[in-house]
Amino acid sequence: MSILITGGAGYIGSHTCIELLESGFDIVVVDNLCNSSREAMKRVEALTGKSIPFYEADIRNPEAMTEVFKAHQIEAVIHFAGLKAVGESTRIPRTYYDNNVTGTLKLVEVMEQFNVHHLVFSSSATVYGDPAIVPITEDMPTGATTNPYGRSKYIVEEMLKDISASDNKWNFTLLRYFNPVGSHESGQIGEDPKGIPNNLMPFIAQVAVGKREQLSVFGDDYDTKDGTGVRDYIHVVDLAQGHVAAVKTHQQDAGLHIYNLGSGTGSSVLEMLQAFEKSCGKSLPYSIQPRRPGDIAECYADPSFAEKALSWKASRTVETMTDDTWRWQSGNPNGYES
Ligand code: NAD
Ligand code: UDP
Repeated sequence: MSILITGGAGYIGSHTCIELLESGFDIVVVDNLCNSSREAMKRVEALTGKSIPFYEADIRNPEAMTEVFKAHQIEAVIHFAGLKAVGESTRIPRTYYDNNVTGTLKLVEVMEQFNVHHLVFSSSATVYGDPAIVPITEDMPTGATTNPYGRSKYIVEEMLKDISASDNKWNFTLLRYFNPVGSHESGQIGEDPKGIPNNLMPFIAQVAVGKREQLSVFGDDYDTKDGTGVRDYIHVVDLAQGHVAAVKTHQQDAGLHIYNLGSGTGSSVLEMLQAFEKSCGKSLPYSIQPRRPGDIAECYADPSFAEKALSWKASRTVETMTDDTWRWQSGNPNGYES
């Protein structure tokens, strides 16, 4: 029996492949490589000493997906495949809804056809919108999303809830990630954004390696500890281990399971920059710029429900996150093309 990983060549998917293999699971990966590289899979194989059945296919292609389900005994699916750039989603919303929403529906249909009912879905803290209070617990309202990407995650959550309510065979786990950062400690795999990074950590890493001139800090007038935005950064390996814990905990557990995967700690933009400066041993130029439209002041998780139910905890510190990111970025200045 194998776990099918959609989007397994991507940033979070590749780290999760390692943790699953190291926990004894067999895996199969489907990825259309629209935002990733085959090299990532090769490195996962080298790090684990295991070979991974890989299909370059689109989850929206039922014929290709049927072949995968025919060729392997799939017991569960961890579904990472999707588009994730907030700004891009406002420019090409149809593409986002097609990939993220239609893609998930088509995947669920193939699963039904093969009698596979266990799905773990990559959701996001973005479904909470601008939270009324922090830390955020799973029972807080969702849906006040501010962009098509966030709405696509919210719509998929609601769709899976409806399917679960209509048929008690389904076993859905919705994992709401906070801000995944960091890299595998080997420095062999990591985040490899195409073009100019949207997210803070890869941007800082590219400044440190000399690919970008300076960091723009989007706003220093928020009502936060130092005026800059506060987020809950979670090491990608902790996040990957959260998936292993979720799959194991709910292996035979039909129903709907929802968890925040975060560290529970809020760090500001300037705190992250300072931590990175320590990791790379130099000071990094930045300038204060206006707030980025759609940004919120503060967002961090209450992860206690996940910690208790999954016997899991995000334990890696911000220093480990920046050290590991720097090891990856300095060793691979051009990502997988280095
Ligand atoms: P990523 O872009 O590195 O990985 C996604 C992978 O899915 C890529 O390898 C891409 O090629 C593949 N893919 C996209 N559309 C596909 C399709 N139609 N068919 C097959 N493969 C397809 O992104 P990531 O950071 O690893 O994110 C993984 C998931 O987690 C995404 O669903 C994302 O929305 C979600 N998420 C990410 C973050 C984050 O900050 N990274 C936060 C919350 C949620
Ligand atoms: N941020 C920034 N400069 C950048 C990218 C991000 O100041 O180049 C800030 C952003 O305003 C937010 C925090 O860093 O306060 C995290 O942003 P990111 O895009 O990484 O995550 P998200 O906004 O999705 O939580």
